[in-house]
Amino acid sequence: MSGCLFCRIASRELPADIRHEDDRCVAVADVAPQAPVHILVLPKAHVASAADIDASRESLAGHLLAVAAAQARSHGLDSSGYRLVLNHGADAGQSVGHLHVHLLGGRPLGALG
Ligand code: AMP
Repeated sequence: MSGCLFCRIASRELPADIRHEDDRCVAVADVAPQAPVHILVLPKAHVASAADIDASRESLAGHLLAVAAAQARSHGLDSSGYRLVLNHGADAGQSVGHLHVHLLGGRPLGALG
């Protein structure tokens, strides 16, 4: 989608701190990190949000989670723990309309509220 921020990052039209790239996704450092490790894993194909994950996208969704887990592992977070978050819509505070998995870790994250 031409005007989509994360489509433009995924296609390298816009600069970003890219930590991983494969045929289906990229992982980038969040520009406003909420934790010492804050990485976003986003598909290269435009998908608006978690609400658009249907049966046809099960494999893609699993791949995003696998890449997020690999990023966590590479940052040594397996023993301390980490959080994966997908926001959908206004109540969750989704601010970018392109599916992304947040990986947050490196400090105690507190209870979900
Ligand atoms: P969400 O609120 O779930 O839609 O998360 C969007 C995330 O994208 C926020 O954590 C932002 O800090 C992050 N973000 C916005 N613009 C950029 C950018 N250009 N590069 C990396 N992360 C970004």
